[in-house]
Amino acid sequence: MPSPQLAPGIRYVDAHCHVDLFPDPVEVMREASRERVAVVAVTNAPSVFQPLVRLASAFENVLPALGLHPELAVERESELSLFRKLLEETDFVGEIGLDGTSRSPRGLATQRRVLGEILHAIERSGPKVLMLHTRRAVRATFDTFGDARASVILHWFNGTDAQARAAVDRGWWFSVNPAMLGSPKGRALVRSLPCDRVLTESDGPFANVKNRPSRPTDVSRIVEDLASLWELGHEDARWVILENFRRCSDLRSR
Ligand code: MN
Repeated sequence: MPSPQLAPGIRYVDAHCHVDLFPDPVEVMREASRERVAVVAVTNAPSVFQPLVRLASAFENVLPALGLHPELAVERESELSLFRKLLEETDFVGEIGLDGTSRSPRGLATQRRVLGEILHAIERSGPKVLMLHTRRAVRATFDTFGDARASVILHWFNGTDAQARAAVDRGWWFSVNPAMLGSPKGRALVRSLPCDRVLTESDGPFANVKNRPSRPTDVSRIVEDLASLWELGHEDARWVILENFRRCSDLRSR
């Protein structure tokens, strides 16, 4: 069944990229379009969503996501009303979540409140695809989550094996980036995941590939790595990831 989200001829998926934080976002989107990479372009605050949508409007491979990053929760909580207003404009929500490295208790309390408000807005708006940040806060994220109808993608997951299994049991997905595959712990985790729950992400420009910021086109290398972990050919692994994204982003069944 054709996906409502993927443009024709798409070969790869970058499920989490901060396109708007590159020095030249249009050039990044153009390169991804040329290489037929679909890009979920996450944002960190509601006020930067519409400018990104305008930049991305020429690129059918770019899927803009409305976000409020946990590390900006205190600073940008006032943008929640804008978040609610813009939510109808996209099926994709991210980057959102919780970050347990926050040193202030007020910070974590605000993050929980902001995530709770976002999930509440989603319960009223209808199903969405969520790109979730959970650094040192996997359990807290599970606790905050509730029953919002959504496809959840755990971005740069770094929790325990038991937490990974709990996320699998909830029907959630994992987007894998170059940094995860570069560490023994990350590789072991990726190896333990069912292949039908794995997606690829660059997390550009924050992750690094060969000492430079990663880009959407780097996901073909992740597919290559996954192919060897799964003992598949590159084309089969590429197809698995595309099919996973099709299922994950098809909200008709949520
Ligand atoms: Mn990110």
